[in-house]
Amino acid sequence: MSGKNILVLGGGAGGLVVANELRKRLGKEHKIILIDKNTKHIFNSSFVWVLMGWREPSQVQKSLEKLNKKKIEYVNAEILQIDPANRLVKTSVQDFAYDYLVISLGADLALEAVPGFAQSAHNFYDLNGVIKLRDALKGFSSGKLIVLISSLPFKCPAAPYEAAFLMDYYYRERGMRDKIDLRIYTPEPQPMPVAGPTVGNAMKQMLEMRGINYNPNFKVTSIDSEKREITFEKGEKVKYDFLVGIPPHRSPKVVKEAGLTDESGWIPVSRETLNTKYDELYAIGDVTAVRLPDGKKMLPKAGVFAHYQAEAVAHNIDAEISGSGTLRKFDGKGSCFIEIGYSKAAYGSGNFYAEPAPAVKMREPGRIWHWGKILFEKWWFWHWF
Ligand SMILES: Cc1cc2nc3c(=O)[nH]c(=O)nc-3n(C[C@H](O)[C@H](O)[C@H](O)COP(=O)(O)OP(=O)(O)OC[C@H]3O[C@@H](n4cnc5c(N)ncnc54)[C@H](O)[C@@H]3O)c2cc1C
Repeated sequence: MSGKNILVLGGGAGGLVVANELRKRLGKEHKIILIDKNTKHIFNSSFVWVLMGWREPSQVQKSLEKLNKKKIEYVNAEILQIDPANRLVKTSVQDFAYDYLVISLGADLALEAVPGFAQSAHNFYDLNGVIKLRDALKGFSSGKLIVLISSLPFKCPAAPYEAAFLMDYYYRERGMRDKIDLRIYTPEPQPMPVAGPTVGNAMKQMLEMRGINYNPNFKVTSIDSEKREITFEKGEKVKYDFLVGIPPHRSPKVVKEAGLTDESGWIPVSRETLNTKYDELYAIGDVTAVRLPDGKKMLPKAGVFAHYQAEAVAHNIDAEISGSGTLRKFDGKGSCFIEIGYSKAAYGSGNFYAEPAPAVKMREPGRIWHWGKILFEKWWFWHWF
């Protein structure tokens, strides 16, 4: 059997797992090359801990160079063009031909899509933004603090709520909560709508218990940083003193230009095997549009799905190359921890491919789930690096 060239685009959650799992399975005659413009793998799930000062930024990232020791060739380059017809990827350092391609390029943050967003909102969806927000919170001691979800879809449907719970905790611990009017505005009809009404109601109750004012069905159109005012689609105007925003998400330009996206703006893939319309070309994680069995709702963008999709894809590429084994299907199961402070977290888990609708359960906040998240973070860095 001749050696194959397998290219993995992106060293985030999906790319890291697929490259590792392929290396574990395939003989050394097969090359595994992982390309990322970033020199570090960044573990986004821990951003909320950086926000609270419970982690230093250096603790939530690892150098992708370390993968070279495992015989995964890491290339630090920007991907400029994907040419599926010619099985070629052009980057800022060189061109790469491939036999198999796995795209895990995530979602770009499009701050410019909401006029005024970049000038007015703190953004904890990138690490520099988290650090700035962490420092700015120290200087904010009274007034209206709004968490604004700008548009759908966004990564980790629980993250804005988790941030709101933790900011509630932050101000309670400092005896200042009564001076902070904490509110959430979102275009969603309920928290985490894909998880169904039971989970949504449980989250709403958790918000209510903490005095976090919840405003669903509010779609922002612009923000005036001078007046400190948000304008919504239906004409409402809301003033703020401190704004934390979840920016609009877009698929990376390079996948759009390759003609891989559909009307959703993301790469459509087979729900179970993550195949694209091209042979030997897979896409996983946030960059994909995975339609749920009802044909309408989409699988949320979350690291847990990127992780399990990566395992299925690595298994199937190995099965195809070695000509042995059966096809492994990604089953739509996933879970997430929702930190609330007091060393506690809630835990949501379920099957998003269940029919007729996703079957998702939410567990009461407890210490066990907080410790579960800590152990998972430790395991992640130990296992994949
Ligand atoms: C605050 C926050 C909290 C979260 N919490 C959780 C959680 O608790 N649980 C959970 O499951 N998920 C969580 N997520 C979501 C999770 O981080 C993402 O869903 C996951 O990282 C997606 O993996 P991915 O491989 O698709 O993309 P990413 O991890 O984003 O990786 C994409 C990679 O592609 C690279 N890239 C992009 N374009 C190019 C290019 N042109 N050239 C070269 N490289 C490129 C990027 O540098 C990046 O390294 C959270 C996200 C945030 C922001």
